[in-house]
Amino acid sequence: MGTEQNVRKGIIAACIKMNEIGINQGTSGNVSCRWKKGMLITPSGIPYEQLITKDIIYVKFRDNSTEGPHKPSSEWRFHRDILAQRKDVDAVVHTHSNYATAMAIRQLDIPAIHYMIAAAGGKKITCAEYATFGTQKLSDNALAALKNRLACLLAHHGVIALGTSVEKALWLAIEVETLAKQYSIANQYGEIKIIPDKEMKKVINAFKTYGPEKKS
Ligand code: 13P
Ligand code: ZN
Repeated sequence: MGTEQNVRKGIIAACIKMNEIGINQGTSGNVSCRWKKGMLITPSGIPYEQLITKDIIYVKFRDNSTEGPHKPSSEWRFHRDILAQRKDVDAVVHTHSNYATAMAIRQLDIPAIHYMIAAAGGKKITCAEYATFGTQKLSDNALAALKNRLACLLAHHGVIALGTSVEKALWLAIEVETLAKQYSIANQYGEIKIIPDKEMKKVINAFKTYGPEKKS
């Protein structure tokens, strides 16, 4: 995981990258990473290009107290709940990427239109029920949609992607956007066939050993 300073730098780098590559815009979205008995998370509403490492906020899980010069992201609840409940991941990336958000606006799950759906851990990417941004209800809905999954859509809002590092969570957020874009394009040509469950099971298994892992 590296030093605290490197984790803070990694969070800022991910924010800048998600805006530069066009999977997020403005101060939408937020990024967190597990750190000790809490998490480091982006502050609320500050343009990413202005962020320096000391702007990243530490939230302690024990009492939700914060350390840092700003308010934590308004979505600190779902970041906290995911990291506290999901021991299999260490980082959370939230974006308002356009194609995935368009699906979420239509309250659509992304079905198995491409084998890469398995990158999110299942045979579809579920759209969580709508709740107001920043609320505990949104966190509860997101956790339900993320059950046995590494990504979900948030109705009328955006995307959450998880990973064992900020880089991997960002990688998955990019994949979700690509899948939503491909689904949207394919939809224009008529009826879409979905990959059968049996085949998706095989792909999901194969994915357990797939990913941008460094060779040791
Ligand atoms: P923050 O700037 O508070 O992180 O809010 C952005 C967002 O995406 C809320 O859902
Ligand atoms: Zn949001």
